[in-house]
Amino acid sequence: MDKPVEQPAPKPEIDIASMPDAREVTEVHHWNPRLFSFRVTRPRSFRFRSGEFVMIGLPGDDGRLILRAYSIASPAWDEELEFYSIKVPDGPLTSRLQHIRPGDHVIVRPKPTGTLVLDALKPGRRLFLFATGTGIAPFASLIRDPEIYEKFDRVILTHTTRTVTGLDYGKDVVRRTLEDPLVGEEAREKLLHDTATTREDYPVMGRITDRIRSGAFFEQHALAPFDAAEDRAMICGSMGLNMDMKAILEEAGLEEGSNSCPGDYVVEKAFVGEGIGA
Ligand code: FAD
Repeated sequence: MDKPVEQPAPKPEIDIASMPDAREVTEVHHWNPRLFSFRVTRPRSFRFRSGEFVMIGLPGDDGRLILRAYSIASPAWDEELEFYSIKVPDGPLTSRLQHIRPGDHVIVRPKPTGTLVLDALKPGRRLFLFATGTGIAPFASLIRDPEIYEKFDRVILTHTTRTVTGLDYGKDVVRRTLEDPLVGEEAREKLLHDTATTREDYPVMGRITDRIRSGAFFEQHALAPFDAAEDRAMICGSMGLNMDMKAILEEAGLEEGSNSCPGDYVVEKAFVGEGIGA
C-alpha cells in the first residue's frame, strides 16, 4: 500500500502588529516589477532629520526579525513615514516586503541616523544631490523640507537609473514637491530635476560622472562648473558611483564633511554589495 503523503505542518501566523515598533502600512505603490514605495503610520515620538535612514524589517519564517537599513523618503514634517524599495529576487527582506498591503504591519526601529543631512554641510549657494537607483530616497525627503530652500539658492537633483520606469518615483516626488503648499513656491524657483538612463532609450543617456566630465551636464542646464567656494553636494548610490563622484568633487576642491565636522559634500551608500538594476 502506498504511504500517505506527509503534508507540511501549516506555519504558525506571526502577529507582527503586536511586536515592538510595528507600524501600520497605509499605502503601497508598485512603480515597475523591481521597485515599489510604501507609507506607514508615524508615532508622534518618532523624530528624525530629513535625509536620515532607519532599520526596518519583517519576521522571517523562523520568527526572527530580518532588519535592513532604509532611507526615510518623506520629510521630517510629514505625519507618516515613506520608503522607496528595491525588490531583490530572493532577497531575505524584500522578497517578503514586496507583498505588503495597506493594513499590514512593518517593524520600523526608532533610531534614525546618517550623514545625508543639511547639518553636515557648510553654508553654500548651490546644492547638488547625486542619486542612482533607490539612492534618490533620502533626497525625496530633503527636497520636501523647507530648510533646504532656506539654506540654498539652487537645488540640483540628478537621478540616473538603468530603465525609464526607474525614474518614475523620483518624477512623482518632484511633481508632489512642486505642488506642495509648504515648499512648492520655493521649489518651483530653486529646484532643478535632472534625469537620465544608462540602458533604456531616453532623451538623456549616460552615467552622471561621464556627463559631468564631458561637460554635457552643465551645458544641458546652463550651469556654471563646480566652484568649491559656493557649491555643496550629497551623493547616494552604488559604491562605484560614490567613489567616482567623490573623486570628481575632490578634484574640484570640495572636502568631505560629517555630522561632527561639516564640510562641502557628504556621501552614503544606497545599499551594500554589487547592486541590481532597476
Ligand atoms: P540583501 O541581502 O540586503 O541584498 C542582496 C543584494 O541586493 C545586495 O548585495 C545588493 O547587491 C543588492 N541590493 C540591495 N539593495 C539594493 C538597492 N537598493 N538597489 C540595488 N541593489 C540592491 N534599499 C532600498 O531599497 N531603499 C532604501 O531606501 C535603502 N536605503 C539604504 C540605506 C543604507 C544606509 C544602506 C546601507 C542600505 C539601504 N538600502 C536601501 C538597501 C537595504 O538595506 C537592503 O539591502 C535591501 O532592502 C535588500 O534587502 P534584502 O534583504 O532583500 O537583500
